[in-house]
Amino acid sequence: MSKPVGQNTLCVHSAHTPEPATGALSQPIYLTTTFERDADGGYPRGYRYSREGTPNRTSLEACIAALEGGIGAAAFASGLAASMAVLELLNAGDRLVAPLDAYYGSVRQFTEHCARRGVTVELVDFTDLTAVRNAVGGRARVVWIETPSNPLLNITDLEAVTAIAHRAGALVVCDNTFATPICQRPCDFGVDLIIHSGTKYLGGHSDVLSGLAVVREDHALLEHLQAWQRTAGSALAPFDCWLLRRSITTLALRVRTQCAGALQLAGFLARHPAIEQVFYPGLPQHRAHATAVAQMPGGFGAMLSMCVAEGRQAALETASRTRLFARATSLGGVESLIEHRASIEGPKSRTPQNLLRLSVGIEEPADLIADLEQALE
Ligand SMILES: *Cc1c(COP(=O)(O)O)cnc(C)c1O
Repeated sequence: MSKPVGQNTLCVHSAHTPEPATGALSQPIYLTTTFERDADGGYPRGYRYSREGTPNRTSLEACIAALEGGIGAAAFASGLAASMAVLELLNAGDRLVAPLDAYYGSVRQFTEHCARRGVTVELVDFTDLTAVRNAVGGRARVVWIETPSNPLLNITDLEAVTAIAHRAGALVVCDNTFATPICQRPCDFGVDLIIHSGTKYLGGHSDVLSGLAVVREDHALLEHLQAWQRTAGSALAPFDCWLLRRSITTLALRVRTQCAGALQLAGFLARHPAIEQVFYPGLPQHRAHATAVAQMPGGFGAMLSMCVAEGRQAALETASRTRLFARATSLGGVESLIEHRASIEGPKSRTPQNLLRLSVGIEEPADLIADLEQALE
């Protein structure tokens, strides 16, 4: 057996070869909606109509599948379009088990869309394995994992939850947006399907909305996703596929730098008297640090949250004083962001009012620490 290829090498080389006709190193952007048939009506080059597939989409899908260790992937117009494609597997009477603290847009899909079509939706605390076991019971159809979670950075034990779900015959889905395949590969723990908001780390430059679903080994499941790309018409456009594939070239470089910065910031904040609590799985005092060490061999991610001791107003004022951290939602870009989560999540939010979420970019950690230091004064 040949040596496994490193993530940085996959980021550069996966589904990336010079274009045969011209030798161009960068793949051309194929701005065409239709493809020529041969004399007897066939499609010898594999492409027919761009909703069904394009060369740029093929490259992107092959690349993310290689990084996650799956057999294939499907690219969608957003992360939520990708998760909607997965939820299409559920029929009336089926049971979906998902975390209480999943991404709020995903929770809205579960509780509004899935519930309306007659799916039983059970939202539970995934850090409590007994609660997960009880909710899964003998007949869950899909178990949805998101780890680390947003914005409290809770860790779900991938191996334990996958075992519980598989014993009940359920399909296991993991939203791997926060960790990226650089830090954590859910397929290695038996997860059947991975979801990404490509808008975040995979895109990495806050300029392309996109989503991906990666299948570990089930060809019928991959065909379902590809059929949904064609049927719903929510596939990703060629230019966006190109941007994302280009960005993934530097994914490992960016994410490793961002993780190292986040770890330094978390340590600084954990010692700061104005901070009540820091949520970061890389800190030894995080309650699931040991699980994070076991399932995130590539790093603990670059998202962290902190509660400001003096409360909501002090948190809002802190965010208003940062100079390098931009006040904006979203995450995963090269630039650092700070956000008061409760106010964007709305009145139903379960997030503490004094919590600020940080997305750590690639700036020098010393500069980011100095920025937070002056903002917390
Ligand atoms: C942003 C996000 C999504 C949704 O992705 P979009 O690209 O905004 O549709 C899903 N899950 C997580 C964890 C996210 O951060």
